[in-house]
Amino acid sequence: MKGRTAIVTGASRGIGRATAVRLAKDGVNIVINFAGNREAAEETARMAVKAAEEAGYTGEEIPRMLVIQADVAKKEDCERLAEETLKKFGRIDILVNNAGITRDNLLMRMSDEDFDRVMDINLRGSFLMMKAVSRAMMKQRWGRIVNMASIVGVRGNAGQINYAASKAGVIGMTKSFAKEIASRGVTVNAVAPGFIETDMTAAMPEAAAEAISSAIPAGRLGKAEDVAEAVRFFASEEAAYVTGQVLCVDGGM
Ligand code: NAP
Repeated sequence: MKGRTAIVTGASRGIGRATAVRLAKDGVNIVINFAGNREAAEETARMAVKAAEEAGYTGEEIPRMLVIQADVAKKEDCERLAEETLKKFGRIDILVNNAGITRDNLLMRMSDEDFDRVMDINLRGSFLMMKAVSRAMMKQRWGRIVNMASIVGVRGNAGQINYAASKAGVIGMTKSFAKEIASRGVTVNAVAPGFIETDMTAAMPEAAAEAISSAIPAGRLGKAEDVAEAVRFFASEEAAYVTGQVLCVDGGM
């Protein structure tokens, strides 16, 4: 994977940060996208370079980092993210559609705005980013798209109607686009994390968090690094014949 270029959306924190660090260990140049938290995104860049150095990369071999603010819910931002990546690195090999939010509530209390915002970022944002990078990947006849779904998109969860719908949508979109683009050397897969310790789950209402965590056979919450390893597999050369798949990283849930 050395010398390849990846865009990781929402890489300032949590799973996106762990993914950027993991890919950098394999010598991948990373475009670190964030929404509002520039300082945290720059910290991800420092952590990724450090991880690459610890993995043995020196001098020119050390992967390069590009930190870019962009709201994945906005088409023009997604297009700019792809353009700036091509301008700096000349190619886009890997897209990790990781940016995501929750706005939890029971259906009867959920506002239309909260439904729309979650769909706009989690589902439409992934669609816009896939569209923005696909031409470059098809031209190269090589690409890896990894979409961040969720176990909640497979099983459902009370209080997360909007989030579950967006993640179920991500799964359907992954399987469909995988079929459209397979003949061009581009794979499209999804990782469906269970309950992972990040800012997102820290903000979850207690009842929803308890319902999920009591159902983890592994007896512990997941770590962002557990998810990053699955992303790394789908992004690898070796996963060339794996497409349209959903890999649950959920401690057996
Ligand atoms: P997190 O810690 O809350 O981090 C969210 C990231 O997304 C941040 O980097 C944030 O940027 C970015 N972001 C938010 N809105 C954005 C937008 N409009 N445009 C671009 N970036 C945006 O979340 P996480 O727990 O790591 O989750 C990452 C992904 O995994 C999400 O898709 C989530 O749904 C999925 N997931 C998480 C879990 C879990 O248990 N944690 C389980 C299943 C699936 P700023 O820092 O700039 O705000």
